[in-house]
Amino acid sequence: MTGKSHVAAAAVLSWVAFQNPFICAAAICAAKLPDQMESFIPGVKHRGPTHVLIFWFFAAAVLGSGLFIPGVPALSLGGMDVEFHSILFGIALGGLLHVCLDYLSVSGIPVFPGKSRPHAAARWYKTGHFSEYLVLGLIILLSAVVLFVSDEAAIERVRKYLTDSGFFAYFS
Ligand SMILES: [Zn+2]
Repeated sequence: MTGKSHVAAAAVLSWVAFQNPFICAAAICAAKLPDQMESFIPGVKHRGPTHVLIFWFFAAAVLGSGLFIPGVPALSLGGMDVEFHSILFGIALGGLLHVCLDYLSVSGIPVFPGKSRPHAAARWYKTGHFSEYLVLGLIILLSAVVLFVSDEAAIERVRKYLTDSGFFAYFS
């Protein structure tokens, strides 16, 4: 998946899942992290150690545990309450989403560390091709649907609109 698709997918998926601006912003910033780390570490091959699914899964699980500890304080920074535990989790989430999305591609990702297999690939799309944008479009569309059906006020607005416009009366 190209960098901008990773950013777009991280934005919508992290928002739909958590609806927390700190998590969402951090996930967007970390959306390209596994690829960026490759350029910092010499001798690392593309989609090698920085793309190991289990690493990112553990990072997200460990850093995400802070979200479930009651009373973790938000630190005041320049008059704003900043949830650092949410930001840390968001970074790990951004990396996890990145490797999950790379998993959907033809070239796939390593699930466990080490040179040998298993190497997993769902083969839904080829990076940079039309198929990538189809997958991205599907992710955005499904996210919009999930957001809509989880928003009772939005559903009520549509129901009221259809009632007021005589749509339901027409069929009864
Ligand atoms: Zn990647």
